[in-house]
Amino acid sequence: MLSVRSMPPSECLSLLGLTEPVSVEQIKQSYRRLAHHLHPDRNGGDEAAHQRFMLVTEAYRTLVLASQAVERGRQVGTCVHCGRFGEVARGVDGSSLCTRCVLSPRGGRLLPMPVLVVARCLTAIALICVAGYLLLQALAAEDARRVVAYSAAASASGLLSLLALAWTCVTVRVCLTHHERNLSRSYREAENGRRSRRRS
Ligand SMILES: [Zn+2]
Repeated sequence: MLSVRSMPPSECLSLLGLTEPVSVEQIKQSYRRLAHHLHPDRNGGDEAAHQRFMLVTEAYRTLVLASQAVERGRQVGTCVHCGRFGEVARGVDGSSLCTRCVLSPRGGRLLPMPVLVVARCLTAIALICVAGYLLLQALAAEDARRVVAYSAAASASGLLSLLALAWTCVTVRVCLTHHERNLSRSYREAENGRRSRRRS
């Protein structure tokens, strides 16, 4: 069976019998018309019509979710991991990942880390190294005042690194929750839209 997963937006449009440029309203109209003809209830178990209905619905869903993402000011493109077209987030290496692959550990990486989060992680690592170095200096020092000074500096550096790590964890958690909420909301909206059309 054909899959919309690897299909660019132009092919999704041609499944709906449309070509660019096109408005969201035209996409909706075309889908309503096709779904009316291909709906399983009207085709008495015709497998070909059913397959086409599924394909057209998936293409419609892909296009609507993408246009909703654009309206919210999000980036839209093709995911380098699964090939799905839709809302994407950019990874540190500049590659685009869809919202599912970004959240899935099977996507290879859990998050496209914002530059600030990466910088904070590196700072924490550097501070831990400095704390270790100062601790060694404190152990090697013979003068009691130097021992106290080095120990104090090592503790301060260790504490700062822990703070930087905690801050990073909170940022990542907030970022993940935000992503999940947006994702489930856009699916809910698309689902509600489909249901209300089915009723009408
Ligand atoms: Zn993906």
